[in-house]
Amino acid sequence: MLVLVVNAGSSSLKCQLIETDGKICLMKSLAERVGTEEATMSVSFSPDFSKQRFSMTNLTVAQCLAKLLDILVAEPDSPIRGLKDIEAIGNRIVAGGEYFSSSVIIDQNNIGDLKKCEELAPLHNPAADECILMMHEMLPHTPQVAVFDTAFHATMPPKAYMYPIPMRYYKDYHIRRYGAHGTSHRYAAQQAANLLDRPLSDLGLITCHLGNGASITAVNHGKSIDTSMGFTPLAGVMMGTRSGTIDPAIVSYIMRRDNVDYDEMDRILNKESGMLGIAGFSSDMRDILQAASDGDENAQLAVEMYIYRIQKKIGSYYAVMTRTDAVVMTAGIGENSAELRERIFAGLAHMGMILDKEKNQVIGDIGINRVVSIDDSPIKICVVTTDEEMRIARETDALVFVATMANPDFAKDYWPQESAND
Ligand code: AMP
Repeated sequence: MLVLVVNAGSSSLKCQLIETDGKICLMKSLAERVGTEEATMSVSFSPDFSKQRFSMTNLTVAQCLAKLLDILVAEPDSPIRGLKDIEAIGNRIVAGGEYFSSSVIIDQNNIGDLKKCEELAPLHNPAADECILMMHEMLPHTPQVAVFDTAFHATMPPKAYMYPIPMRYYKDYHIRRYGAHGTSHRYAAQQAANLLDRPLSDLGLITCHLGNGASITAVNHGKSIDTSMGFTPLAGVMMGTRSGTIDPAIVSYIMRRDNVDYDEMDRILNKESGMLGIAGFSSDMRDILQAASDGDENAQLAVEMYIYRIQKKIGSYYAVMTRTDAVVMTAGIGENSAELRERIFAGLAHMGMILDKEKNQVIGDIGINRVVSIDDSPIKICVVTTDEEMRIARETDALVFVATMANPDFAKDYWPQESAND
């Protein structure tokens, strides 16, 4: 099945065309700084993925998607000749709230609930919804699936997801921990089970998604029982530009002291904090590690703070799991930084997580999942390559396949146009 994966952010749009039968990516695109004059989109096609750049000046995220579709139909290297070649669309949705505990085929019955989730991720969900409605107008009979970042964490018990604030905020505003990066944590856990050759349902795992955004999840017998992100993806460990969890009183203190309004405070914590806030010049871990080794003291402090927070989170999940068989490292930093893995696990050996320094350094087979702990480490350490787009494509394929099996006319009857805006 040829699936278009759409990952819409507040000012970015990442798409891939994936042939799910062969698990092959045929096209990748990335639009950045969307909504500004500098917005550009790179588009590349298999097999060589050499990039072509297109200007996207002053377009919304959904308009960028429309322009990408024009490019796909027009470019000679494109794998499609017409939009009808796209058999299904898989949409990454950041927040599914309490409405969605698994991926769904989007239709007239759930689009209303999807829109209600917008307030839970106001930077991301509205852009994704706009893309969904635009695609529905252009391709009304092409099934669309929503894959939620939060769905994997729907199994958390109330003691983990409730905040100790007055109950009315949960009841009236649904304020609770939802988590994020669920697709990645689910995938990392399953890959680790495959690596260890054990059923996921037998294992206790701590999965660490360490990229620009970062979150850590306690996965007990295949289910998320706690995760570091919270009501929004701002919570948890320190990230590229996000603070992670801080004393909430700091927020009102700065707002009062500097006469800062809500939007500005939100921006400071989401875009100016984390590694960038401490190092001062970049949020990119490669730049910061380089500067730290060149003697930059702020960069050194940022790296120490980052490592310390991850160690504390892993330790706290070890404490609440019934067993811990492995810690799983994934995403840009988790997969690629042997230095950070070595420094993180240097502090965790006493808990039985013992890294093999030589295995940890092996970078020859990037993309190959591997165990990097010593053979008799009581708790294994795994490195797993995350591929969110492939997961979304495969989940989309699976849901559409089941729907078509149940009703061969499924695509013909799919989501009547007039109900799209109900
Ligand atoms: P992601 O959001 O998963 O794409 O991860 C992006 C982060 O991974 C950035 O901070 C990169 O600097 C970081 N990263 C990628 N490769 C490396 C590497 N070899 N060493 C350290 N950090 C890396």
